[in-house]
Amino acid sequence: MIISSVKPFEEILKLLKDEDDIFIVGCNACAAKIHVGGEPEVLEMSRRLEDAGKHVVGWVIPSAACSVGSFDALVEKNPAVKNAKTILVMACGSGVSIISAVANVPVYPSNNTESLGGKSLGEVVPELCAMCGNCNVYYFGGICPKGQCPKQLLNGPCGGAIEGKCEVDPEKDCAWELIYYKLEKSGRLDLLDRIWIAEEVTK
Ligand code: SF4
Ligand code: SF4
Repeated sequence: MIISSVKPFEEILKLLKDEDDIFIVGCNACAAKIHVGGEPEVLEMSRRLEDAGKHVVGWVIPSAACSVGSFDALVEKNPAVKNAKTILVMACGSGVSIISAVANVPVYPSNNTESLGGKSLGEVVPELCAMCGNCNVYYFGGICPKGQCPKQLLNGPCGGAIEGKCEVDPEKDCAWELIYYKLEKSGRLDLLDRIWIAEEVTK
């Protein structure tokens, strides 16, 4: 079980301030069990966003957000996702990372992922999310350097990558190269202008 909590609604609205036509992705695994991404929470989030003047184009609750294999899998469950200009994921950081990988629109986290509780039952994808408790994976194109860069660098690469492979773990692609190319592809390289300080990284 992965333990997450919903960010304050004002923080979610701030994240979405320039976004509209929002599609919400919940999660019927951990997030539903702890009431941060099941149907009641997704419907409540949709209502609050609409009340705040945002247009919600639809929602879906896959059996597990971290196991969504393709954008078509979302379309199959709710074709309205094709009309989305933004996706809000009510799941753990791994779920946000997976949805970011399959979607071509900005993907935002509604939750902070904090820890494992009890037996994971194979639900956790630890290499994607380090469960930092303050999810800002959107700023990294959905590829979390806290989980995927062995040095957990937040302000760019270490410079040691060789032909795209990590100098610490040559079996893996350099997370920061992946982040750069993902943000370049989505026209959001401006997100890299931000300099992260330690206080912003975790609570
Ligand atoms: S920022 Fe990274 S480590 Fe923290 S909750 Fe999000 S995906 Fe997980
Ligand atoms: S090579 Fe890339 S992934 Fe590896 S430690 Fe350096 S920045 Fe991180």
